[in-house]
Amino acid sequence: MLLRNRLLSLNLTSFLSPPSPPPKSASFLFPFNKTIAHSTHKRPESKPDVSASRAAKQPMSERARFAKTVLFAPPGVDPEDVTDEMILPGSNIVVGPYAGHSQIKEVEFVKSSGRAKDCPKDDRPEFAILGRSNVGKSSLINALVRKKEVALTSKKPGKTQLINHFLVNKSWYIVDLPGYGFARASDAARTDWSSFTKGYFLNRDTLVAVLLLIDASVPPQRIDVDCANWLGRNNIPMTFVFTKCDKLKASKGKRPDENIRDFQELIRENYKQHPAWIMTSSVTGLGRDELLLHLSQLRNYWDQ
Ligand code: GDP
Repeated sequence: MLLRNRLLSLNLTSFLSPPSPPPKSASFLFPFNKTIAHSTHKRPESKPDVSASRAAKQPMSERARFAKTVLFAPPGVDPEDVTDEMILPGSNIVVGPYAGHSQIKEVEFVKSSGRAKDCPKDDRPEFAILGRSNVGKSSLINALVRKKEVALTSKKPGKTQLINHFLVNKSWYIVDLPGYGFARASDAARTDWSSFTKGYFLNRDTLVAVLLLIDASVPPQRIDVDCANWLGRNNIPMTFVFTKCDKLKASKGKRPDENIRDFQELIRENYKQHPAWIMTSSVTGLGRDELLLHLSQLRNYWDQ
């Protein structure tokens, strides 16, 4: 019950309650499916998916069902064993055995690419950061890497419509993608965005996950829902990173947690397993370390 209580305190369980019975085809590790398909990496023999084998043999406990359908449980975690302490605060993300070193020591700008095929030829894992213009993408990148020049590079005229690669600790990439839904962009520019960015998503073998940024200070926006659904339909692994969670409305308007719930309700039917999500604020630092830890476990598993 502790697990449920934690999410209840965020008022987020009503839409995430596990269906009963759970869908037979429910995928325990949705966000990793694409990674597995992308690469030749296999789950380590020494760490079998105990959850799946158990589920076949005996009925799942309510606790395990809750963990499987609501939480994002990474490889190596048995839903029966998930405890309250294993869930990152302000998220549905369970910390598993692949979590490791997560702090950023150095970042270097590598290149800007106008087409997916011009991106660095490299086998290092990467995370793409995507969101509507003004969602807080530069601020979040800045907060993650703690280097102003990285976010500034992405904001430079001429760079905002490009795929910008930044190498972190010489071992993995943060990829800043063009913002979408920019009111001033011409229709032609918007079309370019979708064709070349979609090409990137569908063809980039080293893409571990997309961080889809959603502004939690405003009600769900159609364009964000469409983007999430497109990624979901194409099995692109993703994490919803809710931004501006510090912005509490004084009188009218909904709170960030209410906007988050509304957003997830809208995309819920497209997912058998809910993708990872996390609340952040670039103003207070909320979620920064937790997001980095999440990325470390995705990366370390991918690296296996
Ligand atoms: P981008 O266009 O997505 O790169 O967005 P920016 O990072 O430039 O941020 C857009 C606006 O939102 C700026 O005025 C930021 O100061 C503000 N902003 C960004 N992140 C946060 C946040 O976490 N909390 C609050 N309150 N404001 C934010």
